[in-house]
Amino acid sequence: MGELIREIDWAANPLGTPDNWPLLLKHNVSMMLKNSFPVLVCWGPDYIQLYNDAFRPINGETKHPQAMGGRARDTYAEIWDTIGPMFRDVMAGQTHGFPNFMVPLDRNGHLEDCYFDFSYSPIADADGKIHGVLVICLETTEKVKALAQAAKAQASISTERDRLTNFFMQAPAGICILDGPDLKFELINPLYQQLFPGRELLGKPLLDAVPEVKGSAIWDILQSVYTTGKTFEGNELLIPLARTTDGPVEDRYFNFIYQAKTDNSRTVNGILVFVIEVTDAVILRNQDIAEKKLAEEKSAKLAAIIESSDDAIISKTLESVITSWNDSAQRIFGYTADEIIGETIYKLIPPDRQTEEPQILATLKIGNRVENFETKRLTKDGRLIDVSVTVSLLKDKEGRVIGLSKIARDITEKKLDEQRKLDFIGMVSHELKTPLTSLNALLQVSNAKLKNSEDSFLASAIQKANVQVKRMMDLINGFLNISRLESGKMPIEKQIFDMEALVREVIEELLLTSNTHFIRFIPCQPVMIMADRDKISSVISNLVSNAIKYSPKGKHIEVKCVAENRKVIVSVKDEGMGIKPHDIKLIFDRYYRIETNHTQHISGFGIGLYLSAEIIKGHKGKIWVESESGKGSTFYFSLPLETS
Ligand code: ADP
Repeated sequence: MGELIREIDWAANPLGTPDNWPLLLKHNVSMMLKNSFPVLVCWGPDYIQLYNDAFRPINGETKHPQAMGGRARDTYAEIWDTIGPMFRDVMAGQTHGFPNFMVPLDRNGHLEDCYFDFSYSPIADADGKIHGVLVICLETTEKVKALAQAAKAQASISTERDRLTNFFMQAPAGICILDGPDLKFELINPLYQQLFPGRELLGKPLLDAVPEVKGSAIWDILQSVYTTGKTFEGNELLIPLARTTDGPVEDRYFNFIYQAKTDNSRTVNGILVFVIEVTDAVILRNQDIAEKKLAEEKSAKLAAIIESSDDAIISKTLESVITSWNDSAQRIFGYTADEIIGETIYKLIPPDRQTEEPQILATLKIGNRVENFETKRLTKDGRLIDVSVTVSLLKDKEGRVIGLSKIARDITEKKLDEQRKLDFIGMVSHELKTPLTSLNALLQVSNAKLKNSEDSFLASAIQKANVQVKRMMDLINGFLNISRLESGKMPIEKQIFDMEALVREVIEELLLTSNTHFIRFIPCQPVMIMADRDKISSVISNLVSNAIKYSPKGKHIEVKCVAENRKVIVSVKDEGMGIKPHDIKLIFDRYYRIETNHTQHISGFGIGLYLSAEIIKGHKGKIWVESESGKGSTFYFSLPLETS
């Protein structure tokens, strides 16, 4: 720089030639050139600059060499607003300094960020007059770099610490550090605290904070982890603990890890605890297991009931495919479960009864019951199985119909029994019928002969005997018919006859034996119909006899015969006890009798209306009753007028 200073044309410079420079300037320049710190001298009101080798790089490529001998205002034009006032301050006697000023320097063939502490101080003469600014720098690059590195390290440490804290605080498990042999809670995360809401843990030894741990298996485990340093993993372990300070000790389940914490010399000085409470899941699972066990027991019981039942218990889909089959089903129908499951129920239904299946389903679907429905079914070996069937809809949990369950009771024996009884009744009735018919004939002849006899006793005795024999004949005929009907042997033998005449005839015949009621016949025109005359006669007789039987003496009975709409309708109206609505549905059933104080002395077997209904049905006709309890009843039957 000394050389450069010498080369400058000082004559053209406001500073003038060096030989004329004031001594103070010369001193400062010589001190500056010898100094190893970067030094800049700015002299005079124009702050003419002189600097040493150490300072040169601070002026970089752009400011050097023009800066030498140049005005500071020109060299530092871009920062003059800042340093100009400082220079003026220095000229007024102040000192300025700014630390760690960064200057990019090319000292090793490339630009480097270098840092300097700058000091601006006045250059004053012995009189204290200030002639210039002395700028001295001290390089602080190493210090700044060291500081920066330290700051970076600090930052990364704190990031690491933050990360760790976050991990602890946000970990999806309860974490705590138990410190020292008395296992003091040194750190707990929020999830750990949540295991003991409101309980004060931090800073307290475990047994103080959670005294219920004392004497428990968990305390022994902790001790062994502390002494052996071996990690312990607990899976769904039951630990009785209270949640809150005064709360009850509850059975709680935890998954956890106890891991020994060591110091630098690998000596255990605490325990790290990771824990997740699984009480709800364990309880739920236990409940599930219990429920499942219960359900299994229930279904085992049900299966046992089904298997030990004497009845065939079968389930099937809505498409009639068999889905289950018990032992009794096998016994009754002959098929094993393997053979029949997956097959259709129609395999068991005789060809002439196939319509029963859709009818049963339709009946159930409209909410009616199918109970003890007596029918016949086919066995594996082709025999026909009297069964009484009860069918119900199978529903799922949501109440949707998913199939049908069927209980079929084998009633073959019962049916055979009934048949034997019927055969017996039939046989007895048949045997009785012949002598009774002769007796009847004899009595009628005797009656005719003795009508005007002098012997009034004999006349009336024969008359009464006649009535009793007639009753007996009706009874025997009834039994005979019922046994024939049940065995499918009640043939309808049709002939053409006048219905009006038949009704009249039956009434007249009844009047011969009964004179307790006023019977009125409202006739119609002669109506020719084709039907079983004897059987229709017994129907009319039965209806009129009932009207007499079930109404008090002296009451009126009105019998009507009407022909309309290709039908003939016969009705019998009485003023008797009448029939209650719920009995109306049942009186046409076999053996059904209404048991009341009024009826208990009236003899009968409950077969008259059943037979009448069967006879009318056999003629494709209809039979019904309209009645009001206590006021009287009107029984009707209608027959089609078709002659075929
Ligand atoms: P039975 O008269 O032999 O008992 P039925 O089959 O003829 O048998 O009649 C069945 C039941 O219907 C009778 O027991 C009786 O309770 C009732 N019943 C029949 N006809 C009448 C009627 N006209 N008035 C009131 N109840 C009647």
